[in-house]
Amino acid sequence: MEFIWAKEAGASARLDFQVAVEFNQLMLNSYKLEELKNERRQLFCNACQRPTIHVAEAKCVGRWDDEEGMFSGGQSDYIFRCGACDEVSFVSSSWDSENYVDDYDGSQIAIRSEKHFPVPIAKDFSFNQDHTPKKLNDLLHELMSSHAASLPIATTVMLRLIVEFIASDLNCKGRSLKIKIDDMKTLNLIDEEQRKLFQKVREHGNSGAHGAIGMSSVQILAAMSIINLIIEKHYNAPGREKSIMLNAQEALK
Ligand SMILES: [Zn+2]
Repeated sequence: MEFIWAKEAGASARLDFQVAVEFNQLMLNSYKLEELKNERRQLFCNACQRPTIHVAEAKCVGRWDDEEGMFSGGQSDYIFRCGACDEVSFVSSSWDSENYVDDYDGSQIAIRSEKHFPVPIAKDFSFNQDHTPKKLNDLLHELMSSHAASLPIATTVMLRLIVEFIASDLNCKGRSLKIKIDDMKTLNLIDEEQRKLFQKVREHGNSGAHGAIGMSSVQILAAMSIINLIIEKHYNAPGREKSIMLNAQEALK
C-alpha cells in the first residue's frame, strides 16, 4: 500500500499514519484503506490553538480475531485535516471485545479508545503554581506529563484525582467525591455550572479507572481549564493577596 502525500505541513502526522499502516498490515488479520464518506470531527488544532472541525483525508480500518474466535478487536487510523488552517493530525481509534457497554436494548457497544498525534497542547496553557501546595504540584506535574505522552486514560484518571485533592484540601466534606463536589457548591467555592462540570470530570475519571476509557483531547483541555479556574481563585488569588498584605504591613508600620 502506498500513500502519496502533499509535501507541505504535517510530515510528522503523516509519518505516524504510515508507520501505523505498515505495522497493522503485519499485525492485524485485515487492514484496508477505506473509502471516505465526508467524515468530520471536532479536534483540538495545535496550530489554531482551539477546537476546529477537521475533515478526514485518509482512513484505514483493521480487525483481528483470536484463533478460537473468543476475542476480537479492531482499529481505525485517520489523517484529519483542520478546516481552518490545513494542519494535519493522526488519530488512531481502537476497540476490543473485552471493553463494551450494554445499550438500552441489550446489545453491546464497543468502547473505543482514541489517540491523537501530535498531542494537543494549548501553548499558553500552564498551571500557575506560585501558591499551590507541593502535593498538588506533584499531581499537576503527573497530569501534564501523561497528557504530553498521549496517555488519555492516565490523564483522565489524574484529572479526577486532582479534583478530589482540591475538594479535600478546601475542606469539603463527604464520603464520596460526588458528595464532596456538591459540598464545594454548598460552601460557595464553585457555582452551579461549575459543580456540574466537576461532576462530569469525576464521572469520566471513574470510567477511566474502571473501564479504561479516556476523555477526548478536547474534553481533557476543557477539564484542565476549569481546574485552572479553581486553582486561580482559591490558591493563587488569596496567596497573592496575603503576600501583598504582608509586604504592605511591613513597609507601612
Ligand atoms: Zn488549525
